[in-house]
Amino acid sequence: MDIEIIRNPNPAEKPADEGKLGFGRVFTDHMFVMDWNKGTGWHDAKIVPFGNLSLHPASTVLHYGSEIFEGLKAYRQANGKIVLFRPQENIARINRSAIRMGLPELDPDFALEALKKLVALDADWVPHGEGTSLYIRPFMFGDDEHLGVHGSRHVRYVVILSPSGSYYAAGINPVDIMIEDADVRAVRGGTGEAKCGGNYGASVRAGERAEERGYAQVLWLDGVERKYIEEVGSMNIMFKINGKICTPALNGSILPGITRKSILELLRSQGIEAEERKISLDELTAAAENGTLDEAWGCGTAAVVSPVGRLAIGEKIYTINGGKIGPVTQKLYDELTGIQWGKRDDPFGWIVPVV
Ligand SMILES: *Cc1c(COP(=O)(O)O)cnc(C)c1O
Repeated sequence: MDIEIIRNPNPAEKPADEGKLGFGRVFTDHMFVMDWNKGTGWHDAKIVPFGNLSLHPASTVLHYGSEIFEGLKAYRQANGKIVLFRPQENIARINRSAIRMGLPELDPDFALEALKKLVALDADWVPHGEGTSLYIRPFMFGDDEHLGVHGSRHVRYVVILSPSGSYYAAGINPVDIMIEDADVRAVRGGTGEAKCGGNYGASVRAGERAEERGYAQVLWLDGVERKYIEEVGSMNIMFKINGKICTPALNGSILPGITRKSILELLRSQGIEAEERKISLDELTAAAENGTLDEAWGCGTAAVVSPVGRLAIGEKIYTINGGKIGPVTQKLYDELTGIQWGKRDDPFGWIVPVV
C-alpha cells in the first residue's frame, strides 16, 4: 500500500521556548490516517495536515469505548540522527490490544514504515534540548455509524505527534505514591493488559483523590484479592527489597510495558537477577517497616524511570532511600536514556533510525 502525502500548506511556527513545551499540548503539522472496512481491510493510508477528525454522532468509539493507543518517542541524538526506541514492540502491542478489543490488526512492517515517514516529514519538530523528545501517539478506534453493539465494521487508525519538554526539567525528583484500596484498575480477563482508553477513563477518580492528598499517582492492587501489587497509573513498578530487584509478574491485568521489558533485559544481560513474581502488599509493608525496602521506581516511556520517594499504605507513610533516588534507579535511568540519546552503545539493537 502506498502512503499518499498531502503537505500542510500552512505550517505552524515551531515553539520558540522548548522549556515551555510541557506534555501533549503542542502538535506538529501532519498526521497519519488510515481506514479499515470489514471485507476490504486497511485502505486510504495518508499523511495529511494536522486537524480535527469528523465523527458521526453514533460512532462506536463515542458510545462503547472501542479505542486503543500507543505511546513512544522520537529522539534527536547528539549526532543529529532522529531515532525511535523499539517501535516494533509498540506495534506488536497495539496488535495485541486490537485483538482484545475486537479491532483489526495492522501490518507490522507497514505500520513501522508509516511511523518513520510521518516523523521524517515533521523532523524539524523534534525538539533539540536535553531531555526533550517528540512524543508519538498512534491510536485506533471503532467508527461504525450506528448504535448496535457488535464487532467493528469501520475502523480508523491515526498517528499524531507532539513535541514534549523534558520530563525532568527540574532534575529527577522522586514522586510520592499511595496504595489505592477502593477502586481497582483491571481484572484478569478484562482489559488490563490492553492499552485501551477505557482503562484510563476508569482510573481518573482514584488519581484525583490521590492528588488531593498530595500524591502524584496511585499504586494499584490486583482486582480480585486486593492483596498483590500491580502497577502505577501509567507506569509499571519495580522494587529492590533486601538487595534483590523484583517486579510484579505479568498476570493478564498488568500492562506489559516496553520500558519494564527493556529494564529486565538490561539487568539480565549484566548478570543481575531480576525477579518477576507476585509481590503482596503484606510483603511490601513488612519490607517498608523493617527497612529492607531499599528502592522503588516506576518505569514507562514518559518518565523512563521515576524514583518513588514516599509510599503511603493506609495511614502510614514510608520514606524510601531517604526520599532520594537510589543507586539502582539512577543506574537504570542513565543506561536506558544513554541508549536512547546515543550517548551509550546499543548492543541490543533497540534504536531504529527514522531515515
Ligand atoms: C503504557 C503503560 C505503561 C508503560 O508502558 P511503556 O511501554 O513502558 O511505556 C504502564 N502501565 C500502563 C497502564 C500503561 O498504559
